[in-house]
Amino acid sequence: MITHSNLEQSLKYYFGYDNFRPGQREIIEAALHNRDLLVVMPTGGGKSLCFQLPALMKKGLTVVVSPLIALMQDQVDALRKNGIAATFLNSSLNSYNVRSREQAILEGKIRLLYVAPERLMSERFLPFLDLVHHKVGVSGFAIDEAHCVSEWGHDFRPEYRQLIALRSRFVNVPMLALTATATDRVRLDIIEQLGLKQPNIHIASFNRENLYYEVRPKSKNSYGELLELIRENDSSTIIYCLTRKQVDELALKLKHDKVSVLAYHAGLSDEERSSNQTRFIRDDVRVMVATIAFGMGINKPDVRLVIHYNLPRNLESYYQESGRAGRDGEQSRCTLFFSFGDVKTIEWSINQKNDEQEQKIAKQQLRQVIDYAESTICRRTIQLGYFGERFFGNCGGCDNCRYPKPTQDWTVEAMKFLSCIARTKERFGMTHIIDILRGAKTEKIKQYEHEKLSTYGIGKDKTVDEWRMLGRSLLHQGLLEQRTDGYYILKLNDFSWEIMRRQREVAIAVPVVQKANIKATSINTIESEMLMQKLRILRKTLADIQGVAPYIIFSDATLKSMAHIRPQTKTDLSKISGVGSKKLADYGDNFLSAIREFCQEHNLTPQKPEVKPTPVNSSPSSTELTTLRMHQQGMTIDEIARERNIRPTTVIRHLSDLVEKNEAINLSVLVPENKQQVIWKVLDTLGDVALTPIKEYLGDDYSFDEIRIVKGMWRRKSKK
Ligand code: ADP
Ligand code: ZN
Repeated sequence: MITHSNLEQSLKYYFGYDNFRPGQREIIEAALHNRDLLVVMPTGGGKSLCFQLPALMKKGLTVVVSPLIALMQDQVDALRKNGIAATFLNSSLNSYNVRSREQAILEGKIRLLYVAPERLMSERFLPFLDLVHHKVGVSGFAIDEAHCVSEWGHDFRPEYRQLIALRSRFVNVPMLALTATATDRVRLDIIEQLGLKQPNIHIASFNRENLYYEVRPKSKNSYGELLELIRENDSSTIIYCLTRKQVDELALKLKHDKVSVLAYHAGLSDEERSSNQTRFIRDDVRVMVATIAFGMGINKPDVRLVIHYNLPRNLESYYQESGRAGRDGEQSRCTLFFSFGDVKTIEWSINQKNDEQEQKIAKQQLRQVIDYAESTICRRTIQLGYFGERFFGNCGGCDNCRYPKPTQDWTVEAMKFLSCIARTKERFGMTHIIDILRGAKTEKIKQYEHEKLSTYGIGKDKTVDEWRMLGRSLLHQGLLEQRTDGYYILKLNDFSWEIMRRQREVAIAVPVVQKANIKATSINTIESEMLMQKLRILRKTLADIQGVAPYIIFSDATLKSMAHIRPQTKTDLSKISGVGSKKLADYGDNFLSAIREFCQEHNLTPQKPEVKPTPVNSSPSSTELTTLRMHQQGMTIDEIARERNIRPTTVIRHLSDLVEKNEAINLSVLVPENKQQVIWKVLDTLGDVALTPIKEYLGDDYSFDEIRIVKGMWRRKSKK
């Protein structure tokens, strides 16, 4: 009988974690009931634990199918460090090794076996597995990266198709399929192609709350920005470029600027690639510049920054690639540099495709990427919307939510721009139009005698980039058209003419200089930062001695807690998340003495674990309840204040918090309906910001009190 508490105990004992991540418990419970399962969770959601913990709690051997040899080694290393009997079989082993591992399996000494699909389904291996089943029992099959079974996925592997034969051979052995691929088509395919029997389906939210998304325009200064991002991030970083050439060039440039960097692309030899990858995983090198060939099979949980220096092909790829940041749930950043040069390059390559349908899809996907990049609304809302998931309000974790772009009136500039198109008879593209406006002296201008136009040189006050921004914005807002039959010719539409006749105004979102220090809240004292550095070095030393990646010893989050709490005894240390029984025994002394030494050197005492602040959605306090009772009796704010001898603003704060805590407050006696609606709209636009900017936006007709109360309601709704 599995009870709640012993699931939690096993989690702590084997893995050192205190809590399950969302969904893990339900999945594990279903797995323990021998149900077939389909688990769809984003990268970093914690899929592995969903089959690893049941494997330890059930009798027999769990067979894990995994497509990549590098990944197997990694997972097995991590499990072993937790004292779990896991092993793998693949082509990297000699026959002596294979035989001794098979022997251990038959003796029931192994709980988890990682194996590639082609080996598992081979004529030699299946009879061996029959024997295992007969002797020790096969407790389950876990099919990792299950989307590989689908031609609709991004990584089809024909070997996965043979796995269905397991169904008839091991009739009662449950099968658990896991993937991070979000589309419906692939999910259905997995169920069908693997022959899952009435599977329990778990689809987690794809919202990666710990990722900060931003888009920056790519300009001449971008390299400088990139360098600054890398320097201030100071931990593992992946930079994606479109081509090998770009990868090599950027890596060289960074090396020149003393960044610890390596390159990765299909043009390197197998050895170089694998050695570069290992050096990245083991923290010997900090930055990897790569094509998208790099990624699948990178389980590194502590990548803190993923930069797309070129445009991704589509939003799904962007989600997956940028999602390699922060698998461990710690704050990480995803930055996309957006340029129209890239759009042109991609469009060109799309036009090379022969299949018309393929072209159409690719163009549509490109359009979505452009929309994402140019949008002024929440990036998360767009990404999740792409996967059919709805997200409302201010996410607080993207550039558009944190720094809403102010809009500016560019009607006059738009009139100049559009009339220049009209004067040249709608026969040219954006570059030429801008050249005319800025009074450039190009061959083309001479050839068409465009220097004689009245619009020649009237736009010298704006840079090329600014004109481009306007042009794109006009296109984006549908105020101008562009023909895309190979040449990009600008065409006027009815709206364009309205603008030129001054019947329509043009507002465009102008970029603001942004500098988000996303790290600010994580570690607050200089001491913990210094101790963290010391523990990092210790971790790296131990990892090198043992030839494993540092994160396999302890994760960043675990080191951070150690640096913050500064435990002095093994009991204290064991309470930290990520410290399981085996790791406590293996590394406890090392880390404790480092911490003690640091405390002595700096005259420090250990910290008491922080008491977490009560979340606002907890139950009301007693003083709030008193206010609530009086409000429900029909008393006004002033009456309550007088009666209780507290200030009216305090009453308002109570009411606002009560609203947020879902208590029965009669909102309409406090704020008139029509005002509620307006405030609500402004909140939707500005998000969860301080009251003052909201008040500034709304003007004198709205009081701080009214705003405060509606905000309570808005926060409650947007939390759902
Ligand atoms: P996925 O395969 O879904 O991308 P992983 O299984 O690799 O994710 O897990 C991502 C990270 O989260 C790993 O570093 C793992 O150790 C950690 N993790 C998983 N479950 C928990 C948990 N319950 N508490 C804390 N960390 C967890
Ligand atoms: Zn957002």
